[in-house]
Amino acid sequence: MARMPGATWRPISVNYTNGGQSTVRGVVVHIMAGTLVGTDAWFRNPEARASSHFGTGKAGGLYQWVDTADRAWAQAAGNSSWLSVENEGQGGDTLTSAQLDRNAEVLAWAHRVYGVPLQLAGGPSGYGLGYHAMGGSAWGGHTSCPGPRIVAQLPEIVARAKRLISDTPEEDMPDYVNLGLSKAYTLAPGGWQSIQFGTEWSDEPGGHATGGRVFARGAARFTGSVSLSVTGLPVGDTLQVRMSEFDGDTHKANHPTHEITGTKGETFAVVPLTKRLGRGREMRIQLLNQSSRSVTITSAVLTVLVWKE
Ligand SMILES: [Zn+2]
Repeated sequence: MARMPGATWRPISVNYTNGGQSTVRGVVVHIMAGTLVGTDAWFRNPEARASSHFGTGKAGGLYQWVDTADRAWAQAAGNSSWLSVENEGQGGDTLTSAQLDRNAEVLAWAHRVYGVPLQLAGGPSGYGLGYHAMGGSAWGGHTSCPGPRIVAQLPEIVARAKRLISDTPEEDMPDYVNLGLSKAYTLAPGGWQSIQFGTEWSDEPGGHATGGRVFARGAARFTGSVSLSVTGLPVGDTLQVRMSEFDGDTHKANHPTHEITGTKGETFAVVPLTKRLGRGREMRIQLLNQSSRSVTITSAVLTVLVWKE
């Protein structure tokens, strides 16, 4: 059961399918070709064979006629997977600013409750904010609902919905990357080498691609660390670590170097990784063995949070 806070609950007893909302891809905008009061009466008439989940008035009223767990009858084949909003007015009208706000509130609520993305849906197979005519004949062939002027207002509804949810922390949640070696490897003295991360525990932003050396792709910000375990590094000798920016295989820039000094037994170090990465740039971790002997990198565990820009 889902009723939207802020909407006036005006339940109807006919013209909907109980429990019939199988999924929610988004919100479909309609025009009543009538008034809010007239539509409220019509949806109670069994002869109507029509309903919608929500309805707005030009003055800013917002009704909910059908619970969003139930299927309203607004756009034929699109009913079971889309929520519907009827809007007071005639074909050729534009929505009032108050109606744009109410539609934005419905979309923002659907975003919170059903994860509907705040975007234009683009068609019946998309997700987000749609309109009746986009469904074509499968949706009843209502080519003039809600009309081109209102279709042109849909980006404004999306923009207002984004402003409504911009304070919620989930929008700011970073993606998580957690990579490691597939096996220990030998690092000869001299020459910078990129670490190949052959194990991927998590790569939510999808920046770690074939070859395994890249851990982040711009435009993005990231913060985290790489933990390194090394054997064979003589006490007091140095292994250097740096981040390097690439564009494909072309090396573009290096960032400040960290020095790891060999200790008795295994050498262990945690190196911080924090950077802003421009569009088209890829970040790798590089090591330089400055001792006179080959060493073994037994472990390299990278953990970063990435904010895509
Ligand atoms: Zn319609």
